[in-house]
Amino acid sequence: MKSNFIPTCGEHNQPKQWQMTTFEYVEEGISVRVPNIYGWVCPENGEASFTPETVDELILTVRDLLEIAKRAKSRRAHPTEFIVTVS
Ligand SMILES: [Zn+2]
Repeated sequence: MKSNFIPTCGEHNQPKQWQMTTFEYVEEGISVRVPNIYGWVCPENGEASFTPETVDELILTVRDLLEIAKRAKSRRAHPTEFIVTVS
């Protein structure tokens, strides 16, 4: 959900832009990426920040996927990247 408040990047001192980007969560060397998510993106380096609503919506699924990925990692199997899509 977009609010009227436009956050500023503290590092580059520029207003962030509301646009689609990739939500990424990294834990213990495993990253879960969710493309096509709206967030505030710095025009300088593309660093994204997400609203608490967006994080709340995604984090439970991301945590479930992390558990699955940890089991896959423990099997030491190739490949190292899996793409999961739901309609
Ligand atoms: Zn920045």
